[in-house]
Amino acid sequence: MPFSLIYMTDTKIECNLCGLPVEIFAFSLKTTQGEKLFCCEGCKSIFKLLNEDKLFSDSDMD
Ligand SMILES: [Zn+2]
Repeated sequence: MPFSLIYMTDTKIECNLCGLPVEIFAFSLKTTQGEKLFCCEGCKSIFKLLNEDKLFSDSDMD
């Protein structure tokens, strides 16, 4: 039996800080490397602190 069927719809998203599965896409950040998703507000804030230089600021661009 050929295994030619590829299902890409079941992609798991992992928290970009701690690696836990992200089930609610409520904690996201736009960065210069794309949009990052996190499992909780805490992980999002820590990532922000560690990667300030990679974040897009909403209003001013230097
Ligand atoms: Zn996390």
